[in-house]
Amino acid sequence: MSNDRVWQEYGAISGPIVMLGFGSIGRGMLPLIERHFTYDHHRLTVIDPKDRYSTFLKQRGVRHIRQAIRPDNYREVLERLFPKGGGQGFLVNVSVDTDSLSLMRLCRELGVLYIDTVVEPWPGFYFNRDKPMAETTNYALRERVRAEKRANPGGTTAVSCCGANPGMVSWFVKEALLNLAGDLGYDNTLPTSREGWATLMQTVGVKGIHIAERDTQHSRDAKPIGTFVNTWSVDGFLAEGFQPAELGWGSHEKWFPEHGARHAEGCKAAIYLCDPGGLVRVHSWCPTPGPQYGFLITHNESISLADYFTVGAGAEPAYRPTCLYAYHPCDAAVLSLHETFGSGRMQTNFRLLDETAIVEGIDELGVLLFGHARNAYWYGSRLSFRETTELAPYQNATGLQVTSALLAGMVWALENPEAGIVETEEMDHVRCLQVQRQYLGPVEGHYTDWTPLSTRWSQFEEEIDDSDPWQFKNVIATSGGY
Ligand code: NAD
Repeated sequence: MSNDRVWQEYGAISGPIVMLGFGSIGRGMLPLIERHFTYDHHRLTVIDPKDRYSTFLKQRGVRHIRQAIRPDNYREVLERLFPKGGGQGFLVNVSVDTDSLSLMRLCRELGVLYIDTVVEPWPGFYFNRDKPMAETTNYALRERVRAEKRANPGGTTAVSCCGANPGMVSWFVKEALLNLAGDLGYDNTLPTSREGWATLMQTVGVKGIHIAERDTQHSRDAKPIGTFVNTWSVDGFLAEGFQPAELGWGSHEKWFPEHGARHAEGCKAAIYLCDPGGLVRVHSWCPTPGPQYGFLITHNESISLADYFTVGAGAEPAYRPTCLYAYHPCDAAVLSLHETFGSGRMQTNFRLLDETAIVEGIDELGVLLFGHARNAYWYGSRLSFRETTELAPYQNATGLQVTSALLAGMVWALENPEAGIVETEEMDHVRCLQVQRQYLGPVEGHYTDWTPLSTRWSQFEEEIDDSDPWQFKNVIATSGGY
């Protein structure tokens, strides 16, 4: 890593900093906090029940509380760590199995800034087969946070879902939309309201958005049988891979999936499929591979983007883009998922491909805006593992896309400490990308003439509707559809 670079300092955090969870993201986040903020080092605490990084933390002089945060102890633990009159504190939640809503509520009560990368529930939510399926969706998790925002507007800033995706990709969507509007000859002055952004998306003629990702990072070793291998949390990926597939449901859609269901309550911007996302494939496109399959993994941004860019309201608005996450994880994770579903049981060994294991590859993560006059436009980060090692320690390319979004979100929260509960669509994307871009490698826009109908296997007959290549019927790879 280059040591001669001068990193910008973005301000002082006057109170305690607590990092909740110290896994792949926490370990990558710590050096960015050290690099970009001034704070009292004696008041930085990590809470994580595991001791795998205890020595690492000790060597850096960081206090480690080895404890799991639970419904019955979170209040007591956090009230102790954030005493009254102790300055402006910050809770950085990068854990699994802790309820984001409970934590953000408490932080706002204590006047502590809060940020997370996902709306996480207490344990038992994801694999609970007694619950109606609609209640196990990210839609349900997000609706709770939106209800809290409506009930208690304003107040201390709590940033919800500010990782790479959900998170950074919503800033990319805005940037991509401005580029596209300019290229198509529309007025691309920065809109100043949610309605303004949604109207611009409608005017430009975007039918939908894929969060289109291809992770090619790999190690030298083959995946051992019985081991789940991934470039970020295996727990996190298994949880979302087993949730019902979900997508923001656009106003251009003419067909409704047989296994699909709508929600009775809430913003109604999304639908879910009664199939786990880890088993549903969709046709998508990224610059390196070109056309590819991605898994239709549920994510907060599929819902929040569709909701944010809606003109009108409810289940049948005047305009809404279809939004979905088409994720091609690293090859070893594809094989791992295949093994999980095929064997009918979860692997007991998990392996994180961290910076010591990876030999090469890139995480190409962007947004594909489609259905407009130039067909489709991908805009995103093409960060390589090699470049990552030059930029920041203790993480791979996937991790750095997440931690740098957290950094941008922390800077924005410090600059806007009374903004209430926000999602990343509601933040200043220009400022956030200004902070984050230094860590993203090449950030590029690419037009493509590919559509979900242009790369089919013609020797097998399938039911397609070519009146609109971009409708979801043609994007999803169903049985009998290639
Ligand atoms: P990880 O599994 O590597 O680490 C999670 C850590 O949380 C572990 O060290 C674990 O011991 C700790 N933990 C578990 N239960 C806890 C509890 N009750 N209290 C405190 N700590 C607890 O996961 P990761 O890859 O570091 O990801 C962290 C979080 O970030 C996950 O929720 C993941 O879904 C999310 N994430 C978001 C994005 C994004 O782009 N938005 C990307 C990657 C990860």
